[in-house]
Amino acid sequence: MTENTIRIGIYPGSFDPLTYGHLNIIERAAKLFDRLVISIAVNNTKTPLFTPEERAAQIRHVIGGDSRIEVDYFSGLLVEYARRKGACAILRGLRAVSDFDYEFQMAHMNHKIGPEIETVFMMTGEDHFYVSSRLVKEVASLGGDVTGLVPDNVFVDLCKKYAALQKGVQK
Ligand code: ADP
Repeated sequence: MTENTIRIGIYPGSFDPLTYGHLNIIERAAKLFDRLVISIAVNNTKTPLFTPEERAAQIRHVIGGDSRIEVDYFSGLLVEYARRKGACAILRGLRAVSDFDYEFQMAHMNHKIGPEIETVFMMTGEDHFYVSSRLVKEVASLGGDVTGLVPDNVFVDLCKKYAALQKGVQK
């Protein structure tokens, strides 16, 4: 197989933190592409709980040594980044109707800027349709149990992060 026939997919997102919902998409997408690049957005407007490096470490820990999956960072225009990576597609996950409006607009805007790069949507896994990083953080910050929603290493990181933040508040 020559270099330019290798199918590279970009899976961009905040991953703040990685959930089993993300992981389900990653595992399924890895079968569709020769290489999958999980791309952590570093300059979006959201204030993250975890640093980009912490998020990358969480993802790397879970995907282990799969050489077909890369963990990377991106900032700026996603389409430009996808071009630089030689990707043929941007992968996004879809949960509910509420995801659709934004994703629909973004896919069309990206198509306008980079018509050669397709946006591919994967429907959420049936056990993960209600899982979002935002809700996981909300529940964990209130002391709720998020076991089963995030990988074990992320669970430990969430406990540590909120314990540290709590300590900071009490000082
Ligand atoms: P972003 O800030 O780009 O939305 P997220 O980390 O929240 O970053 O999500 C990254 C991608 O993963 C998005 O396409 C989102 O729809 C998808 N995603 C997040 N959670 C799930 C889930 N539970 N099931 C399927 N897709 C999901």
